[in-house]
Formats: sequence, C-alpha cells, structure tokens
Amino acid sequence: MEDSIAAALKAARTAIPIGEARLLLRQVLGCSAAYLEAHSDDALPTEAAVRFSALARRRAAGEPIAYLTGFREFYGRDFAVSPEVLIPRPETELLVDLAVSSLRGIRSPSVLDLGTGSGCIAVTLALELELAEITASDISPDALAMARLNASWQSADIRCVHSDWFEALGDTQYHLIVANPPYIPSGDPHLNQGDLRFEPPRALASGVDGLAAIRRIVEDSIHHLLPGGGLWFEHGYDQADQARTLLQEAGYSSIEQHRDLAGIIRVSGGRLVPALGSGVLA
Ligand code: GLN
Repeated sequence: MEDSIAAALKAARTAIPIGEARLLLRQVLGCSAAYLEAHSDDALPTEAAVRFSALARRRAAGEPIAYLTGFREFYGRDFAVSPEVLIPRPETELLVDLAVSSLRGIRSPSVLDLGTGSGCIAVTLALELELAEITASDISPDALAMARLNASWQSADIRCVHSDWFEALGDTQYHLIVANPPYIPSGDPHLNQGDLRFEPPRALASGVDGLAAIRRIVEDSIHHLLPGGGLWFEHGYDQADQARTLLQEAGYSSIEQHRDLAGIIRVSGGRLVPALGSGVLA
C-alpha cells in the first residue's frame, strides 16, 4: 500500500532535517509548500516515493540540497545549479549591492563578471541595471551553458564568453569588473567538509594561499577598465589585508572594503583614477 505524504516525510526525518525533506519532496512532486501541507494525507505514488527516498539518501550522504533540487535562491530569484557550478552564497549578494550602487549615475554601464559560474551575479546585474551591458566569462563551457540557461529563464540579456580570466576578452574596457573567484587555499581542510566536497574544485581553491586567481584578476583588470572604472571582488574571511595590498600595488585608489552580514570583510575593491577629469563611477 502507498504511504501518505506525511508518512513519507516522517520516515525521511530520521535521516535529514524536515525542512530539507519537504524541499526534496516538493521537487519530486513539482508542487508548492502550501500544496504539500494541504495534501499531507494524500497517498504518495510509489514512483514518487522511490525518487524521494533516493534523494533523501543522497542528501543524508552529504550531497548539497541545491544540487539535489537543482536550484538555489540568490538576490530573490531562483538560479539553476549543477555540480559544474558553485552554489550561490548569500554573502555574494553584497558584491551585487556594491556593484549596483557604484554604477548609479551611469546610464548604460558596461560590466564584466569574471568566472560567472551559474551566472547569478551577471544575471542579477542585468536585471537590476536595466540598460547595463553585461559580459560574463568562465573557463568552463559547462558553467557558461548554465549561465546562459539562467539568463534565458530570467529573460536577462548577458553576453557569455569562454575565457580563462581576461585571456579571450581582447582589449575591451569596462566601467566595472566584478568577480567571485576561487579563493580557498588548496590545502584547506574546509574543502573536505560539507557542500564544498561536491562543488567544482576549480571554483573554490586557488593556489597554496588561495590568492592566485585574485592576484591575476587585480593585476590584469587595470588594462580592462575605462578611466575611473572600478573593480569589486569577493575574498576569504582572512584575506582583507592581502586584498588591500594587492589593490594598492596594482595602482588602485579609493580602495573600499565591506563586511558581509556575518561581519566579515568579504568584498574589496577600488577605482582606477583617470589621468584627467573625474571618474566615471559614483
Ligand atoms: N565562498 C566559498 C566558501 O567559502 C568559497 C569560494 C567562493 O565563493 N569563491 O565556501
């Protein structure tokens, strides 16, 4: 006999939190939270029960909930994710906030999102800044495919470029460059814990000190910014001092560092002072 929805949820609770069990069952049934609640006494079809218990088992073994449901919310919108891309994090919303406020005052800003992954930053900027021209790059063709998918689902207009950081971008210059690059030291034990075990290593770790990608981005970005243009990038919880030094050494001024909701300095950036006149960014 088929179990009820409530019974299936109760059984899953022995292995995973109830909130996650509900999310997974909603994924299987393609239904809303309200539907699940209202139909808790309904029978769960055998085929759905089998799929649900397989997902619950994978979750209990540690697979990220976002990869099992295929979605993660970022900046109030759902983004499709797969193990080819980093799962969007709430702290990265700070990067978007800073990008949006620094571009206020420019009618049609050009923005480059380096290492776009799921495209969550690029797509969000395209939607928040109506007239912006957004370019998103990634070294991974699978990531670019996911970014394109998210852009089309959200009806956002972004240009996707297959590139190893700046390599394929020619000499185009932008008002703003943003990046959430890999920044975890390659030997960091956190890489063997939690969701990180299932995420693409290339999107997480970058050299022994975690700063290899950030060094390259900060140094090369100065050739790809319009006069007065700016750079914002996310970094690790203990990399604020190094981030500031790298920005100074590359010739950035008006350096700013901002704390995420956990109070950690998480995003750093600066501006390239134009030779003459005032800068383009607010
Ligand atoms: N934010 C990730 C983490 O600490 C690290 C990788 C990244 O976001 N660039 O889990």
